[in-house]
Amino acid sequence: MNKKKHEYYLKIALNEAKKALKQNKCPIGAVLVNAKDEKIIAKNYSKNAHSSVLFHAEINVIDTIKESQIKKDNLIIYSTLEPCIMCIGTLVRLGILHFVFGQRDWNMWQISPLDVSPYLRRKIKTYENINCFSNDYYKLYSKYDEEEARRVFNIEN
Ligand SMILES: [Zn+2]
Repeated sequence: MNKKKHEYYLKIALNEAKKALKQNKCPIGAVLVNAKDEKIIAKNYSKNAHSSVLFHAEINVIDTIKESQIKKDNLIIYSTLEPCIMCIGTLVRLGILHFVFGQRDWNMWQISPLDVSPYLRRKIKTYENINCFSNDYYKLYSKYDEEEARRVFNIEN
């Protein structure tokens, strides 16, 4: 798929991220696409809360589909932000080996998750940073961080 198509799916993922923000969750969205017919199989967003940090957008996408829908090589996961190593590991174990994301996560990663795992580097077939909405999206993401930091550290506005 070309860059324009990647951007199209990443914008859908961005809309998912906005839904998360409305619920005061971390604004990250993900879309699962079948590369063969270019149809969206599922989309979802981060539902992380302090009671659990496991409900990342990519995990939530996988949670909404049936095992039979995972047809190995045909699926591409689109994430607004570079996925964390937990999500990458989970998706690779399910046989999803194509990753496209809109932005590196410089807050979290000084290096790519692939740099710390030769296993993932060997398994993953596509790993592309499209970098298509960095300014707007990063503002959205940073806003969340600021609000979250204020809440966690009990700082009044
Ligand atoms: Zn994750």
